Parts: sequence; structure tokens; C-alpha cells
Amino acid sequence: MKLLEDRIRKDGRVLPGNILKVDCFLNHQVDPGLITAIGQAFADHFRDRGVTRVLTLEVSGIVTALSTAQALGVPMVFAKKTTSVTLTGDAYISRIFSFTKQKAYDIRVDRRFLNADDRVLIIDDFLAVGQALSGMLDLCAQAGASVAGIGIAIEKAFQGGGDRFRALGYDVYALAKIDHFSDDGVVFAKV
Ligand code: 5GP
Repeated sequence: MKLLEDRIRKDGRVLPGNILKVDCFLNHQVDPGLITAIGQAFADHFRDRGVTRVLTLEVSGIVTALSTAQALGVPMVFAKKTTSVTLTGDAYISRIFSFTKQKAYDIRVDRRFLNADDRVLIIDDFLAVGQALSGMLDLCAQAGASVAGIGIAIEKAFQGGGDRFRALGYDVYALAKIDHFSDDGVVFAKV
């Protein structure tokens, strides 16, 4: 998606450890126009897949998942990273390892919001090695829900997660696919 690639070139910052910082338009400060266009692009790609719910992971997936769900006219549910008194025993739980925080934690979705008759579109801001995605796929499997597709705003292709899940048969649709980082910045993969 040219709009997103251009914005990454203009405002993204590459940090040590293969981290791309996009916090001035995607996951801290948010550009509503860009997020709406991203949601529309995912909705256009996945429109005829019978999606009943969009699933993401708090916090940074939420804005993109919401605009996608809005464009598709279906509910959005985000997996939570913390427990609370309002989230009692009735949850699907999966353990994942965070690439950016370098620690393991549980993600959970209340059983009321993921069902066996759901066709789930998983959305996230980044795909790196695929731990977060594994966790969300596991939540869907626990619920008996089928996965209609996977939409990723920014895939870091060199970290392998995308190809691993494509090889398993999932439609992983990335709007900006990064081949590698160079001294000059971000080099996008040819699509
Ligand atoms: P994975 O589990 O695929 O290795 O990483 C996915 C998660 O880690 C995403 O949900 C995202 O929050 C975070 N992440 C991975 N790589 C980056 C990055 O380069 N920049 C930012 N801002 N977040 C990242």
C-alpha cells in the first residue's frame, strides 16, 4: 500500500534490534485518515470471506482492527494482556513471548466473544517472528472458530513469521512488507 509505505519512509525510525518505530502515526499518536485507509484496504481484500469478527491484541492492534471492523460491519474483539475482576474464569488463554518487550505473558479473550461458528479475521500492526499471531490463532482454535484471514499493517519479512503462516495455508495479507533495514532506512519487498 503506497500510502503506508510512503508514510513509513517519511516518519518511521529504525532502532537497534530491527525495531521500526511508527509511533507518530500508527501506535502511539494515530493518523485517523491513514488508519481509515488501512481498514478499507483490509476490508476490500477480505470482504467475501464471510468474516464475523475481527480479532486483535491490545494495545497497538486496536485502532487498525477497529477501522477494519467498521469497514466490514462486524464486531471487533481485542485479546487482553492483563486479568481483571471483570474477566473471570471464562476465558480462552494463550501464552506468548513479546519480541519488543522480551518477556512472556498471557493473552485472553472472554469465551462470549469468540465462538465455534465465528469466521475470524486476525489483524495486527506488526508481524515479526509471529509469536503474537500464534497466540491469536491458538485462541481461535480453543474456541473452535475458523480463521478467514490475517491482515498485517507492517510485515518484517526478514523475521520469517509471514512465510511460516503462509506455508501453513493462511492468507497473510500485509500492506507494507519490509525486506530489510539498510543504512539508508527501510527497504520494502517487491510484491
Ligand atoms: P511477533 O510476535 O510477530 O514477533 O511480533 C509482533 C508484535 O510485536 C506486534 O504485535 C508488535 O506489537 C510488536 N512488534 C514487533 N516488531 C515490531 C517493530 O519493529 N516495531 C514495533 N513498534 N512493534 C513491533
